[in-house]
Amino acid sequence: AADSIGFIGLGAMGMWMAVRLAEKLPKSTKLHVYDIVPSLVEDICARYPDKIIRGFSGKGVADKSEVIITMLPEGKHVKSVYLGPDGISSGDIEGKLLIDCSTIDTGSFLEVKKTISQSSPSSRLFDAPVSGGVIGAQKGTIAFFLGCAEDNKEIPQLTVLLSLMGSKVIPCGGPSLGLAAKLSNNYLSGIIAIACSEAMDMGMRSGLDPRVLAKVYAAGTAQNTICDRFCPVPGVYPEAPSSNGYRNGFKVQLMKKDFSLALDMAQKVGSQNVLGNAGLRTYEAASEDARCRDLDSRVVFRYLGGNEN
Ligand code: NAD
Repeated sequence: AADSIGFIGLGAMGMWMAVRLAEKLPKSTKLHVYDIVPSLVEDICARYPDKIIRGFSGKGVADKSEVIITMLPEGKHVKSVYLGPDGISSGDIEGKLLIDCSTIDTGSFLEVKKTISQSSPSSRLFDAPVSGGVIGAQKGTIAFFLGCAEDNKEIPQLTVLLSLMGSKVIPCGGPSLGLAAKLSNNYLSGIIAIACSEAMDMGMRSGLDPRVLAKVYAAGTAQNTICDRFCPVPGVYPEAPSSNGYRNGFKVQLMKKDFSLALDMAQKVGSQNVLGNAGLRTYEAASEDARCRDLDSRVVFRYLGGNEN
C-alpha cells in the first residue's frame, strides 16, 4: 500500500478502524491521526507510539499522508474537515487517494468531490461507507460500499487497504453510489426491524414462543438476518444486542439519521415510500424516549410496547 496513511475521525467506528490499521500495516508505514477531541488522539498515540503520529488538523494530516481516510458523523463535518480552514483541501493533496467512510447525504459528498477536483485535479476522492457496526469494526468484519465502477483502476489498491479494516469491498457503480447503496440498505433493515417487532409481538400475544417464531420465519418466506442474528426480541439469539440490554449495537439515533437521509434521497429521485414516514416517526420518537435512547436501534420492539420477559 502506501508509506503513510492519514486517518481523521477517531469515534466509535474510526478508533477501531485506525487500531486495525496500526496492527496490520507494515512497520515502515506511518499512520497520521487527527480528531477534534484531543484525548482520542492522545489515547491511540500512546497505544502505538512507534506507529502512530499525532496530527493537529486536516491539512496537517493531508500534508504528511499519501492516502487519507475520514470517518465523521454527518455531511457538515465532512464538508468542514475537507473544505474548511486548515482542512484537507488546503493541504498538499495532488495525486493523493482520499477515502470518506462516513454515512452522509450524497449531495454533500458530491459537493466536496467537485470542489476538490477543481483545486487538486489529480487527487481522487471515493465514498466508501461501511456496514457491520462497532463490533464489526473491532473484529475487522465490516463491509465497504465503494462509490466506483467495478473496473476502476484504483480498485486493487483500495481493496488491499480497505481489507485491512474489513472483510468485504463492494464496488457500487460510480461516485456517491456507495452512499446511495448504504442508505438503501439501512432503510430496508430499519423497516424490517419495525416489521419484525410488530410480527413477533402479535405472535407472542397470541401465545407463541418468540424462539418458535424465529424458527418459523427462518424456515418460511420471512427469512432474514434482522429476525435472526439481530432479533429485536430479547432471548431469541443470545449474541443479539436485544439479549444484552440492547447494548453494543447500532444506536437508535444513528438509525434515525440514516433513515432520514434515505427518505431525503428517495424524495429527490422521485421514489415512493409508503412505509418511510411511519418508519422515520418511529425512530425519531424512539430516539427521544429515555428507555430507548443510546441503545441499539432494534430497541423499537421496546418502544412499540413489546413484552421483553
Ligand atoms: P462518532 O460520533 O462516534 O465519531 C465521529 C468522530 O468524528 C468523533 O470522534 C468526533 O470528535 C470526530 N469529529 C467530528 N468533527 C470533527 C472535525 N471537524 N475534525 C476532526 N474530527 C471530527 O461516530 P461513529 O459511530 O464512529 O460513526 C461515524 C460514521 O459512520 C457516521 O456517519 C455513522 O453513521 C457511520 N456508521 C456508524 C456505525 C456505528 O455502529 N456506530 C456503523 C456504520 C456506519
